[in-house]
Amino acid sequence: MTLSERNIIEHIRKIAGRPSVQGLIRGIGDDCSVFGGPGPWLVSTDMLVDGVHFNRDWHPPRLLGRKSLAVNLSDIAAMGGIPRYILLSVSLPPGLSSEWLFQWLGGVAEILSEYDCALIGGDTVTGSELNISVTVLGEQHPAGSLYRSGAGAGDTVYVSGVLGSSAAGLAILKHMEHNAEQGLKDTWQTLVDAHLDPVPQIQTGQILCASGWVTSMQDISDGLATDLSHICKESAVSALILAEKLPNHPVLDDVCEALNIRKLDCILRGGEDYQLVFTVRKGGEKTVEDLLQGQGKTAYPIGTIEKGRGLFLEKSPGIRQEITFQGYEHLA
Ligand code: ADP
Ligand code: MG
Repeated sequence: MTLSERNIIEHIRKIAGRPSVQGLIRGIGDDCSVFGGPGPWLVSTDMLVDGVHFNRDWHPPRLLGRKSLAVNLSDIAAMGGIPRYILLSVSLPPGLSSEWLFQWLGGVAEILSEYDCALIGGDTVTGSELNISVTVLGEQHPAGSLYRSGAGAGDTVYVSGVLGSSAAGLAILKHMEHNAEQGLKDTWQTLVDAHLDPVPQIQTGQILCASGWVTSMQDISDGLATDLSHICKESAVSALILAEKLPNHPVLDDVCEALNIRKLDCILRGGEDYQLVFTVRKGGEKTVEDLLQGQGKTAYPIGTIEKGRGLFLEKSPGIRQEITFQGYEHLA
């Protein structure tokens, strides 16, 4: 690392941005930042560890900068909120090049500007590993926040987009590491992008929040099976999902066949799709589907909430299998 901590912070200060919303009184440069605004506020934090949550060998620094913030913004999306401020703490290993660092910060700056957020502070230290910790502060939507705890029997379970793309993208990247001479098939690039550069569903979260029909919501970071079972647990209900209704990118079959991985595993247990899973009260299905369609998005109904406990998958008519807590968890 040839740059001093001071130089790095000076650069960070230049890219910090300012949200168009009034409220930021003092940003980077003092012992604390100061902000106001009406509130209530949403706050969430995430830690990304090299070799666990990302791999520098195949993750281009700019895209990693984007993803470092995007996964946090996804938590704000899951509440229906509006992201405003970011805190960013990094430990940088001594061998890290300044070029890598500037590209990574370039990705950070892109997300700040795309989502109208301001970087208002953080910490920069030298450490043995590259660790990235991001905290995001957002404003609650005027319609309130969507929690995991509101699902009720009779609700329909939806997802906001295709599943399994990120897990398949990761499998492709791992495969390419040992088979680089084969070259990446053009059609597979979308899945690789889904893994390297996920899109937080901010606008979709807000639309769903404002609809008045959504009873619970969460983002899919650990895989549908794990994340939907959180909704079931917090809402004290069970869910039945129908395998045939689970949406996936059309190229997923090709990748799964070529790499010998199970498609259903990618869809149910592969994490990091950062789509939203949500439940809709009876009677609101069409309203919600039309609202998302109006934004060029699709609300995919995948099952129903029922009384009882647990998460069940119907693979073929009448054949149910319990799948609770079998999603992919880094600590498992
Ligand atoms: P202190 O020692 O008082 O914590 P620092 O010298 O670490 O202050 O930081 C100076 C300023 O730069 C503070 O406003 C801090 O929030 C900001 N800062 C430091 N590192 C980062 C970072 N990685 N991202 C954003 N802001 C940062
Ligand atoms: Mg400090």
